[in-house]
Amino acid sequence: MAADAGRPAWDGSKRVLLAAPRGYCAGVDRAVIAVEKALELYGSPVYVRKEIVHNKHVVRTLENRGAIFVQEADQVPEGAHVVFSAHGVSPAVREQAAARNLQAIDATCPLVTKVHKEAVRFAKQDAEILLIGHTGHEEVEGTAGEAPDHITIIDSPEIADTVQVKDPDNLVWLSQTTLSVDETMETVRRLRQRFPNLQDPPSDDICYATQNRQVAVKKIAPEADLVVVVGSANSSNSVRLVEVALDAGARSSYRVDNADEIDETWLDGVTTVGVTSGASVPEILVEEVVEWLAARGYGSVETVTTAQEDLVFSLPTDLRRDLKRKSLPVTPV
Ligand code: SF4
Repeated sequence: MAADAGRPAWDGSKRVLLAAPRGYCAGVDRAVIAVEKALELYGSPVYVRKEIVHNKHVVRTLENRGAIFVQEADQVPEGAHVVFSAHGVSPAVREQAAARNLQAIDATCPLVTKVHKEAVRFAKQDAEILLIGHTGHEEVEGTAGEAPDHITIIDSPEIADTVQVKDPDNLVWLSQTTLSVDETMETVRRLRQRFPNLQDPPSDDICYATQNRQVAVKKIAPEADLVVVVGSANSSNSVRLVEVALDAGARSSYRVDNADEIDETWLDGVTTVGVTSGASVPEILVEEVVEWLAARGYGSVETVTTAQEDLVFSLPTDLRRDLKRKSLPVTPV
């Protein structure tokens, strides 16, 4: 295999290709910092509805600092502080929180909020919305809750072949932010075959972080005998990275929460290991995987970079207001 321009020639020995970008995105970073700042500001406990981001390590770490994770707002004591997760909530959840006088801090990722606003706008135009996404995922529940009478969830490309619509000339598709770009485009292609006047969203709903991590894993996958994706099982974008790696030519690919979950037999006959991580994964977990591999002879590590990321989101408004009142820093650092 010829070396890429700008990349050193490979001598054929065991190696790791580390995809970049990987790991934390701007929305996850903001949500985790929001909980940390809320704990600092209001003291423990601070309640969090659902997992703040889909990562076991992050949730455990915040629990140890005094966060209490609940499934629904009605499990939070009246008047307490509650953080809404990065995946967003439906208006019904906001109403439930308001009815209990909860002090809500909304850590919904601004790129999820953008999709919510699109749903509301198209619903006002009385359009029918085909929301491509996974049934039961919190983000999809939140978006669908913005316009339940207008939204139909398209859970897979196959559903696109059978879904029934009321008016094929007043139809738009939107999507969950963390899907496979290629699979989503396949779903849209099938929908458009049946509904040629289907409108596109005003801009990409699959977010920059999801797209960048998929592009990066596609770059390393064809050279990899094994791709290890660090991320939790309920992390949509992490699970997609395994699928994308396999589609892009990796001989095998597995998702692990951390290095302890790697099975040594996966390394049989493996020379090149690709490593990446989902958007909710702290870098420490990737470092541990790289160390685990180094201890087994994969000490040569090459980072393969396909994009630079420098996006930072400001903290939720209510939190910034309270931080300012106490003269604490409001920047997400
Ligand atoms: S994966 Fe994308 S949509 Fe989700 S929190 Fe990160 S930036 Fe926001």
